[in-house]
Amino acid sequence: MSEAPIIIKIAKEDNVGVVVNVNGLQKGTLLNDGTILSQNVPAGHKVALTNISEGDKIIRYGQIIGYANRLIHRGELVHESVISLPAPPGLDSIPLTDDPKPEPEPLTGYSFYGYRNADGSAGTRNILGITISVQCVAGFTNFIVKRIKEELLSKYPNVDDVVALNHTYGCGVAINDSSAVIPIRTIKNIAANPNFGGQILVVGLGCEKLLPERLLPQDHHTLEKSDNPVSNIVIMQDESFRGFDEMAGGIMKAAEEHLKWLDRRKRVICPASDLVVGMQCGGSDAFSGITSNPVAGFAADLIVRTGGSVMFSEVTEVRDAVHLLVPRTIDSSVGKALINEMKWYDDYLLKWGTDRSANPSPGNKRGGLSNVVEKALGSIAKSGTSPIVDVLGPGEKIRRKGLSFAATPASDFVCGTLQLASGMNIHVFMTGLGTPYGLAMVPVIKVGSNSKLSDRWFDLIDLDAGQVALGQKTIEEMGWELFRMILEVASGEKEVACDKSGLYNDLVLFNPGPTT
Ligand code: CA
Repeated sequence: MSEAPIIIKIAKEDNVGVVVNVNGLQKGTLLNDGTILSQNVPAGHKVALTNISEGDKIIRYGQIIGYANRLIHRGELVHESVISLPAPPGLDSIPLTDDPKPEPEPLTGYSFYGYRNADGSAGTRNILGITISVQCVAGFTNFIVKRIKEELLSKYPNVDDVVALNHTYGCGVAINDSSAVIPIRTIKNIAANPNFGGQILVVGLGCEKLLPERLLPQDHHTLEKSDNPVSNIVIMQDESFRGFDEMAGGIMKAAEEHLKWLDRRKRVICPASDLVVGMQCGGSDAFSGITSNPVAGFAADLIVRTGGSVMFSEVTEVRDAVHLLVPRTIDSSVGKALINEMKWYDDYLLKWGTDRSANPSPGNKRGGLSNVVEKALGSIAKSGTSPIVDVLGPGEKIRRKGLSFAATPASDFVCGTLQLASGMNIHVFMTGLGTPYGLAMVPVIKVGSNSKLSDRWFDLIDLDAGQVALGQKTIEEMGWELFRMILEVASGEKEVACDKSGLYNDLVLFNPGPTT
């Protein structure tokens, strides 16, 4: 006897349902509404709950995800091959609004132990970040980081880690091109992430186009004059160095001064309003929009209610749902900014002769996500329901508390890199298919969208949101669980899976400009 069929329909008007049973459902299965499956339907895939005529709407989340390109019979698997992609929402026809939005109901009494920074931000880790002005010195910087870990770090027990902020930029690029603004501010703002305590240490070569001085904050002179008279830039071509050992010695000396300064820091009570949470998903499946993303969205609303900051991103996954987001912007200028980021990306994709249909990935499709519209509707669930208070360009620093849209590509490692630059101090990452994604600079909480993955990847996933699909927990219960986990992880009381195993991705810049 096989288990009872579980089908999830999000909105009343949906004419397709998603099979939730972890092993899928067999041909001939009778569903509660009387539908009989005419073929096997794998977990996460859709089944037609009515006959859908050729040209008719296919509705999920109460929204049109496409049109039937032939008659689809009730009980049939609704595969991507039978769905025509609808036109994206016209960006010029979405009404902008200045109507007042409901204020999120305040949530008080939540705090975490963090590292207070001079600029008012709070770190969730106390890390020495060493940035570079050009890729040429990346090998040298890796060598130095290894040496610092072996020879110095244990002398400074309050410092959590030393991390090379390596990237592929700095030379061989059109440095004054308008598109260079994005990678340059990204590199600069990453070094200023709250988890590095305001300490900027740059390794440069000496002949690169990106001058190391450009990576220092504008007020770095006052910083040097105050309590931190430490050398911030070490140049390999500096003529006072003779040989590799002397260069290494130069940077080790500078690094030790920074370590001494960082080691004086202690965790202090910080209100939850100091959290800057970056939300992202990757390796999504059809469960992501039912379980992990709504759970993340519920937690996002809780963070916003404490007065904290949440960012969501991934332009190509928001593009097809932007008509649902513009009405949530706090005023018409924020709405316009959101539309402008979509337009910029439409043009960017067009320049390369592609469009939004390049997303989803083959894995997404195997997981049951037929097209980018369906993916977008599930993806925006992670933004919760709060008003959108601001829109950031790629790599810009966060400016306002509350929910911001930080424009980034959907690519996991590029989005994470840009959210680091925007100042996130904790990252929440939802996955359905599984990815070892992690960052060394901020803790990454991994949320699994289905229990099959969360069981198989028990030591790589931090929270199993698949329990929602199986009816074991509600979205609200799991949203609170995630919220509490965020506070514990931010306090350093709980170690996330990717930190336990030391799995970290490289920083990958978004460089829309040419390489020379
Ligand atoms: Ca992503």
